[in-house]
Amino acid sequence: MKKIVIQNESCIGCGACVGIDSEHFEFSDEGFSTVKSQENLDSPALQDAIDACPVAIISLENVDESKDDATTQSHSSDEDCSCENCECHECDCQSEKSN
Ligand code: SF4
Repeated sequence: MKKIVIQNESCIGCGACVGIDSEHFEFSDEGFSTVKSQENLDSPALQDAIDACPVAIISLENVDESKDDATTQSHSSDEDCSCENCECHECDCQSEKSN
């Protein structure tokens, strides 16, 4: 199974992916790109967005569904977070780490 993966700890929030392919990307409340949809992965706009990312952090990866967990993409709640490994911008872990 293919899946869009964003290494969102490195996102600079430039907006290129969101501007090119709003079907698949949106901004989080913190201003970083997150995956909006994992459907229609053959879309030309998706490939254009991947190619346009200036820090090359978007990829289409083959994912083993049995290993699909919070470490392969951002999560939406603190409840799934394993704080030791979490580098996402989706929860309060970063602020917890710095406190
Ligand atoms: S194009 Fe890359 S750096 Fe820019 S918002 Fe999207 S993921 Fe972030």
